[in-house]
Amino acid sequence: MSKEEKKHHEIDALGEFGLIDSLTKDAVLKNPSSLLGVGDDAAEIELSTKESMLLSTDMLVEGVHFNLSYVPLKSLGFKAVSVNVSDVLAMNGKPEQLTVSIGVSSKFPVEAITELYKGIHSACEFYNVDLVGGDTVSSLSGLVLSISVIGRAAKEKICYRSGAKENDLIVVTGDLGTSYLGLQILEREKGVFLENPNIQPKLDGYDELVKKQIQPIARQDVIDIFQELDFVPSSMIDISDGLASELLHIAKSSECAVSIYSDKLPITEKVILTAEELSLDPYMCAMNGGEDYELLFTASQKDYEKIKNHPSFSIIGFVTDKSQDNLLIDKNNSAVRISAQGWKHF
Ligand code: ADP
Ligand code: MG
Repeated sequence: MSKEEKKHHEIDALGEFGLIDSLTKDAVLKNPSSLLGVGDDAAEIELSTKESMLLSTDMLVEGVHFNLSYVPLKSLGFKAVSVNVSDVLAMNGKPEQLTVSIGVSSKFPVEAITELYKGIHSACEFYNVDLVGGDTVSSLSGLVLSISVIGRAAKEKICYRSGAKENDLIVVTGDLGTSYLGLQILEREKGVFLENPNIQPKLDGYDELVKKQIQPIARQDVIDIFQELDFVPSSMIDISDGLASELLHIAKSSECAVSIYSDKLPITEKVILTAEELSLDPYMCAMNGGEDYELLFTASQKDYEKIKNHPSFSIIGFVTDKSQDNLLIDKNNSAVRISAQGWKHF
């Protein structure tokens, strides 16, 4: 191998997070207003002694993050906003403004972009955020959609990935694995359709799964619940890449470890039945499925009374010392190390 060739590394070998680390390790924050840079769900920029602005960006690429053969453009617009809003919520912030940038092929009819924007506008209504700008360029390889969101929060309420403490409770909202199974159903029906276009897709009975995959709702309601309960999580992250991956982010950022219990994971009857039908393990779907856009947070034991009975919350485990392994413990008390499957988008 020549010297020149040796310099090339495969992106796959680094992984998504390895790549981000290597690209951003030398980024120094020069402005005192930049309170937090890379490494959390959103960056934090100081507004005043009491308040910060939160800023986050996400990009969706056709054929990688969505497939126009089964995702209606209106839903895609809504989802793209949800994905961004979710990152501000994950900091316990209130999303307020959006910019939307699109790369479109000139072959794309205007009506299609109008549909996409119907979804974007509808999500802006739903989350009470304002579309304030963006960019429009042509693309040679499918539709690209990049959204940035700005939010705000009282400094004392902001939740970072790094705040978890030993013995804190680990909590997730809603249920897990639903979105992933929705995607599996869509893929199955697309396969059937490609083989025989006369067969209509069978999505009846899978509505809740497909809906959560196609048009997830970011948990803005949970931020309001925290307010009502007078509760601030010790750390928080949204579940975009799968529970396992997000647990490891919290553990790494907070310099701790986690133990969670498989029988505490919020998995619906529908997820169990559909996983069985597709010969998948429902626990794997919940741990590694991704795109649930639920919130994962930790709570100090002193807040147990505040959160214990809320129907949207499931306490799934607790934070341990960093000398421990990150563990998934089953009902027979046997433990396996948690590993993130992630990287599915590359
Ligand atoms: P999320 O899943 O919450 O959207 P990501 O895993 O995409 O977060 O990103 C993790 C962190 O890395 C975030 O703080 C994000 O802003 C930062 N990041 C991701 N890609 C880049 C990049 N190309 N350059 C600089 N920062 C990046
Ligand atoms: Mg996030």
